[in-house]
Amino acid sequence: MEAALRRLPSHGWINGWFGRRDRALLVVAGAGVPYRRIAALTAGDVALIDGVAAINTTIRSVTLHPDEDPVLCGPCALVRWLRALHLALTSPATRTLAGAIDRAAAVDGASPHLCRSRRPIAQGIGAVPLLPPIDPRGHLAIDPRPLSPHSLSFLARGNTTGPGAVHRVDPRTPNEPQPPPPPATPVVPPPTP
Ligand SMILES: [Zn+2]
Repeated sequence: MEAALRRLPSHGWINGWFGRRDRALLVVAGAGVPYRRIAALTAGDVALIDGVAAINTTIRSVTLHPDEDPVLCGPCALVRWLRALHLALTSPATRTLAGAIDRAAAVDGASPHLCRSRRPIAQGIGAVPLLPPIDPRGHLAIDPRPLSPHSLSFLARGNTTGPGAVHRVDPRTPNEPQPPPPPATPVVPPPTP
């Protein structure tokens, strides 16, 4: 799991967008929350108190304590994901999100601990599933549903068993013009007899 956390990017469109979500999944799963409970979590089920993340799983509250290393810090992973999710849900164009993730600095040992920030983390998006699906171009559904327990398990295993393609991605900037369609094959008139 540590290797996966060190590998997953938090910056750069589009992989940083997937990477933030998958990192959030890994830290919650790593805290022992079963996939079927993770699938039921909403953004509002995560609270941050003095750097400690509390995850309300209906059965019990699970706490994630900060790690000294910002790359491995579970509460930081949740804040980074929730900030991006908030932007995705509240800005009209996906390119706003893409620009923000593109401009984000790589997370390393010297990065600030966002878990110490006092900014609210899920204001206005509390009812949204914590981990929704992202399509290959980086879009969320208009009314996001949660990833299924099966998909969560697939993603967590895919990310922890080694670098590999767990996502189908289209890295073009959102709202970039689509490539023109291939020219239609000219219809050759039948030879005249
Ligand atoms: Zn932290």
